[in-house]
Amino acid sequence: MSERVNSSLNYNIWEEIVLPDWDGALCAEIDPAIFFPRDSDAGSSKIAKKVCMQCEIRVKCLNFAIENRIDHGIWGGMGVMDRRRIRRVLKDAS
Ligand code: SF4
Repeated sequence: MSERVNSSLNYNIWEEIVLPDWDGALCAEIDPAIFFPRDSDAGSSKIAKKVCMQCEIRVKCLNFAIENRIDHGIWGGMGVMDRRRIRRVLKDAS
């Protein structure tokens, strides 16, 4: 992930985010495209979420995505809207 660069902005978001240890990440063994489905591609999203449910670092991954407000892709078995809902609940509870 650290090599992803938005070339149009010449800006690498991953340089500003402290990445956790991804040992055990099941997505490392699978086509990463299924974790970044288009809105119309619900089938791909379902497959990604199923993979995440089997992943031993799912909770750490989900926490990372929520804490860093990552607004794209499937992380920890949840999509963008799921994570936004969790953030709202956490904010309301604090
Ligand atoms: S929970 Fe899903 S997205 Fe996160 S590391 Fe595991 S397989 Fe990858």
